[in-house]
Parts: sequence; C-alpha cells; structure tokens
Amino acid sequence: MDQHRLSANVHAQGLVHDGIYLQFNGERHHIDMRSLTGGRTITVYGQQELVRDLIAHRLATGKELLFEAEAVGLAGLEWGGEPVITFHHGGEERRLSCRIVAGCDGFHGVSRRSIPAGAITTYGREFPYAWLGILAEVAPSSDELVYSFHERGFALLSMRSPSISRLYLQVPHGEELTHWPDERIWDELDIRLGTPGWTLERGHVLEKSITPMRSFVAEPLRHGSLFLAGDSGHIMPPTGAKGLNLAIADVKVLADGLTAWFSSGDESGIDAYSQMCLKRIWNAQNFSTSLTSLMHLDPGADSFALRLQRARQRFTVENENARSALADNYVGLPFDPPVAPGRAQ
Ligand SMILES: Cc1cc2nc3c(=O)[nH]c(=O)nc-3n(C[C@H](O)[C@H](O)[C@H](O)COP(=O)(O)OP(=O)(O)OC[C@H]3O[C@@H](n4cnc5c(N)ncnc54)[C@H](O)[C@@H]3O)c2cc1C
Repeated sequence: MDQHRLSANVHAQGLVHDGIYLQFNGERHHIDMRSLTGGRTITVYGQQELVRDLIAHRLATGKELLFEAEAVGLAGLEWGGEPVITFHHGGEERRLSCRIVAGCDGFHGVSRRSIPAGAITTYGREFPYAWLGILAEVAPSSDELVYSFHERGFALLSMRSPSISRLYLQVPHGEELTHWPDERIWDELDIRLGTPGWTLERGHVLEKSITPMRSFVAEPLRHGSLFLAGDSGHIMPPTGAKGLNLAIADVKVLADGLTAWFSSGDESGIDAYSQMCLKRIWNAQNFSTSLTSLMHLDPGADSFALRLQRARQRFTVENENARSALADNYVGLPFDPPVAPGRAQ
C-alpha cells in the first residue's frame, strides 16, 4: 500500500500495536513483537476500509470498474490462448476477452472451479470447531489483542477502531447463532477472557456471525493464463490474521511478474508466481495451524494431550526463541528477493 501511495488512511486510522497477549490459566502474558523483531509492529485496519481505499483509487484513475458483475464461466485458459470471461451485468450476459485472468474471487468463486480436474491438487482440513464473532459498539477493553485459552474454549478480544470491538468465541462445528443471544455471548466472553481486576466492557452488538475453521491450499496457483490469488487459492484458520495479508502478498508477486511480462516479454516472474507464493502460504498455514492448536480446546483431546498443550503454552511465553518465532511469523515473513530476469523456477 505504501509503495503504491495507497496507505494514507491506513496510517491515519490504523491502530499500531507492539504485540499481543496470550492468556491461559487466567494469566495474561505479553508477547512484545516490536522488541522481538527488531522494531516491527502490527497495524490493525479493517478489511472493508482497505477495500474502500482500493475502490476509491481505481475510480480516481477514471478506469472502468464494474459492480454487481457476476462471472459465470472462464474459457480459453491455455497459455497463448484467448481467455474469455462470461459474466452477468445489468441483466445481460456479457463477455470479456483478455490476455490474463487474475482469479481473485474468493473461496466460492468461479476461477478455481474452471480449472480442469487433474490439473490442480487441493489439500485441506476442517477443524472440529468454529468462531462465533461479534462486532460491538464499545471501546476495546485491552490496548492489544488478547488470545485466550480456557477450559470452556478459546476466546479472542480484538478491535476494529478505538470505539468498535471485535470479539470471538470458539463454538462447536455446526453451531447455530440462534443458540447465542447477546447476553450469553457477553457472559461467555467474560468467563473466557476474565483475569483478576480486569473488566470486559459490553456494548451494542452490531453484527454476529459464525465462521467454520478451515485450511485449504490449491496447487499450483496457475493454470495457463489463469492465476489464483487470495482465498480462491488458499484459506487459513483466522487465528494469526494471515488471510488478507497473504492475498495482498500474492497480488504483489503477481503484479510484479505481470509488469515485467507486459513491458518486456520476460516470463520469469509469472513462471515463478505459484512456487514463490506457495512457499509463503505453507509457512502461514503452518503458523496459523500451530497457533490455532496452541490456543483452542480440541474436543477430542484426552488429559495427556491437554497437558502437552499446557506445556507448549508455557514454553511459548517463557522461552525467548519460541517467542521470537511467534513474533516473526505474526508480523509477517519478508518477501523473497524478486526472480532475476530470465530465470524461471
Ligand atoms: C472471522 C474471520 C476473521 C479474519 N480476520 C483476518 C485478519 O484479521 N487479517 C487477515 O489478514 N485476514 C483475516 N481473515 C481472512 C480474510 O478475510 C480473507 O483471507 C480475505 O478476505 C481474502 O480476500 P480475497 O479478496 O482473496 O477474497 P474475498 O474477500 O472472499 O473476496 C472475493 C470477492 O470476489 C467476489 N466474487 C466471488 N465470486 C464471484 C463471481 N463469480 N463473480 C464476481 N465476483 C465474485 C466476492 O463477492 C468478493 O467480493 C479473516 C477471515 C475470517 C472468516
């Protein structure tokens, strides 16, 4: 965002955090990411705000941007062919001819489904729990995010802005929202996030939803002229806040590759796209899955597994190397150096 001068609002409104809190046994431990990573921090900025900034920039260029346009089919995707996107817009079926298709249409979009079976392999895992999330009109009760393990399940306190809190509860897979009136959610958050002398402020609930926890990766992320980017190619459990960050990382690698190809015909960047992104994606999967299993209550865990989990939690907060590994992954791993021109991987 900085590189493309799109970050004015991120810097003006984003909340800069030095770290996070990990909580278990009713005790809160600060992971000081700024000191553990040599000065790097985390910026908390709403995804909708980020999308708003990107749309505003596109509109300001005067270039076309279609809203309420649903792609229904992709064809001609072999490299060197003539890709065509068929889509519905304004009550009509329309066709868009292009040279490259960036498949940025999320997990349920049409892009990944347009790749013939056999040309793509998918890897996935469903977790036996989900996140019940609320957006509430109340100032965050903590200066930084609190990830809390509790014998009743995980809870997370996060924030959208200085006056809006975002809070989550681990609930069983398949749980229904109707079982969770606002009062019950606040009571449960109180129990799971509570520490002596600390109060969770309550407020009007603006939004409520349940999200299943899933990991998914498609390999490769390219099929001929189609490049999968973001959730169309991979999904992380939300623990660790990697999804949108990875989507943006994909787009950066892809944009650099496409710029080289359009300007000089150099294919090395786009040839390396899938491999470069998958390395980062699997690192993030590993991190998100580890943090998820560290802080969630596995309904199938026996007492031995629970004691191992406790040991991992203590080691993570007490050992400096473990804290550093957590911090490095949380603030985000650096980009690999760009591929040298003409060097395909
Ligand atoms: C509870 C929760 C918390 C999260 N917290 C964080 C966090 O803190 N930090 C973080 O980095 N990530 C977080 N994520 C993950 C993040 O939301 C996603 O990874 C991110 O939205 C992926 O962006 P995307 O653009 O690839 O896909 P999406 O956001 O899914 O966008 C895809 C777009 O394509 C459109 N589309 C779909 N099909 C079609 C079609 N056929 N034609 C045209 N358009 C289509 C959709 O309408 C949508 O606008 C969280 C996710 C969840 C569920």
